[in-house]
Amino acid sequence: MDAPTGATRVAGIIGDPVRHSLSPVIHNAAFTALGLDWVYVAFPVPRGAGRGAVAAMRTLGIDGLSVTMPHKEDAAAVCDELSPHAERLRSVNAVARRDDDSLFGDSTDGEGFLRALADEGVAVEGRRALVLGAGGAARAVALALVGAGAEVAVAARRPAAAAEAATLTGAAPLAFDALDAAVAEADLVVNATPLGMAGEEPPFDAGLLHPGQAVADLVYHPSVTPLLDAAARQGARPVGGLGMLVHQAVLAFTLWTGAEAPVEVMRQAARMALAG
Ligand code: NAP
Repeated sequence: MDAPTGATRVAGIIGDPVRHSLSPVIHNAAFTALGLDWVYVAFPVPRGAGRGAVAAMRTLGIDGLSVTMPHKEDAAAVCDELSPHAERLRSVNAVARRDDDSLFGDSTDGEGFLRALADEGVAVEGRRALVLGAGGAARAVALALVGAGAEVAVAARRPAAAAEAATLTGAAPLAFDALDAAVAEADLVVNATPLGMAGEEPPFDAGLLHPGQAVADLVYHPSVTPLLDAAARQGARPVGGLGMLVHQAVLAFTLWTGAEAPVEVMRQAARMALAG
């Protein structure tokens, strides 16, 4: 990438914390690969300042923003128009500033997850999916899976959170104490909690995982979590979180630039950054 000039277009990510984000590496690799005069930077924005930061895209002429914790709901509130998924979830992880300065918000995690599964040849339609967690990522994934024709259950340690996520997404709610039976019956098990980032074991009997099943972890660091390790040992198909990370970025990249994203360049950039 040449040094930025006065003509360089700016994209970035807002979050707290955000300095650890892989998004700058992924997007800048893509801009360079396509020879686009864009640059992508990280903006640390404290909790409570998200609305102002997104609205400032107009003032500062920022063309694209990724939005991560804790600003996704605030970003949805500020956008002039939302995609159907962002509208349903009231959550935005990618904002584009249009030529008329209006702000369009999208939620690309769910579609990114479906694309990551497709890359691995994992079918979704008509399959039973079990999503662990009821937070932002779990909701996005559950909504996408329901939309793709899966029969989806959402399990959370707090039953009220599972019920709320289920109502929002069209999935069925499940309590953590009913997990073992659901794991045994599921065609697809998805971890959408942070469990595994620090080596935690899955919150169910991993001996119930079995061949014919796909097991996806949204956690991408480490690349092999205890859940994915158990899935492989049990003969199930493990799917790591890197694919989703790359594909949600791919969707945002195209939203901002209108260009087809160089998926493999972005994947390689993410892999190298994680390998450190
Ligand atoms: P979030 O909104 O904070 O939700 C986290 C969920 O996990 C909540 O339901 C929470 O339950 C549950 N949880 C947390 N600790 C738990 C524990 N010890 N036992 C059981 N449940 C627990 O976070 P998020 O944005 O959805 O992200 C979830 C994970 O997905 C994170 O690790 C994130 O890095 C990853 N992620 C990956 C991608 C990707 O592209 N691969 C994209 C988005 C997110 P409570 O409400 O009871 O705390």
